[in-house]
Amino acid sequence: MDKLFDIVILGCGPAGLSAAVNAIIRNKKVLVLGREICSPPLHKAQLINNYLGLPQIKGQDLLEAFLEHAASLGVEISPQKADTISEIDGIYHILSGDEVITSKAIIIATGMPYKPTLPQEDFFLGKGLGYCATCDGPIYRGKDVLLIGHSSEAEAEADFMAEICNKVYYLPLYKGVGTLDSKVEIIEGRPASIIGTDFVEGLKLKDGREIMVEGLFVLGGETAPDRLIPGLEIEDKHIKVNRQQETNLPGVFAAGDCTGPPYQVAKSVGEGQVAGLNAAKYVSRK
Ligand SMILES: Cc1cc2nc3c(=O)[nH]c(=O)nc-3n(C[C@H](O)[C@H](O)[C@H](O)COP(=O)(O)OP(=O)(O)OC[C@H]3O[C@@H](n4cnc5c(N)ncnc54)[C@H](O)[C@@H]3O)c2cc1C
Repeated sequence: MDKLFDIVILGCGPAGLSAAVNAIIRNKKVLVLGREICSPPLHKAQLINNYLGLPQIKGQDLLEAFLEHAASLGVEISPQKADTISEIDGIYHILSGDEVITSKAIIIATGMPYKPTLPQEDFFLGKGLGYCATCDGPIYRGKDVLLIGHSSEAEAEADFMAEICNKVYYLPLYKGVGTLDSKVEIIEGRPASIIGTDFVEGLKLKDGREIMVEGLFVLGGETAPDRLIPGLEIEDKHIKVNRQQETNLPGVFAAGDCTGPPYQVAKSVGEGQVAGLNAAKYVSRK
């Protein structure tokens, strides 16, 4: 498959789908990345009563209508998450698992701002703490590591680390862990804090237990946008955009809850439209 897209959209909630619909109408080659359930918040919303023209609609029904509209125009949604993004010669390279997708422009529509799992994540990032075990794995060859998994997506990374590390602990924050490599020790409990002064030395659990490791990974949850794309400007925990939905990085746009309140469907759809149209213009100019 030719993997150079005009626009890759991160997130298939209202903002991402609105951006996709508007960009595809402008004849752009678009790919949307997202979870199996696009927009967990809208899916959960029992009743939306402030979306113009559709009073008393269930969140799930509104999401279904958005997805059907996007599908009818040929919007392709791939159930995968972007792990990191880098820019080389004006082209964005999106790493998703072991796949690299390339695009001329990016629209970030990843929803509510990231909430850290542990205190001091920012301080320890790159000092023994990481968000992608398969990316940083070789640094921890022969060492002891602990992986915190927010979803079953993290299990493959635990198996990978079992092949190269001395000891792998896996702390799942969800129910129904699958079958893991026999070298992986599953830990039950809730994480409390990182042990260490300058570098990670271990993890303290809420019940007081301490597990000493050199590497700690938080996996399978959402990634903070500025970790996704280094250099992305954040203001007050949200992606900073102007009225064209442009970020500080050329060809990178953002829309929806990730740009700030009000956290509402109509605002997400509106910003998605502006981002989709401006990303399409950016690609045409390029
Ligand atoms: C209980 C509840 C009730 C609500 N009621 C209302 C209401 O009555 N009226 C109203 O207007 N709004 C309501 N909302 C808010 C509304 O659902 C949100 O404002 C809206 O869904 C935001 O859309 P979004 O596209 O910005 O983000 P989201 O819908 O959150 O979609 C973001 C998507 O991006 C995906 N994503 C994240 N990171 C990545 C990545 N790295 N790579 C790829 N994909 C990624 C996520 O998995 C998610 O699918 C309610 C929300 C909740 C929780």
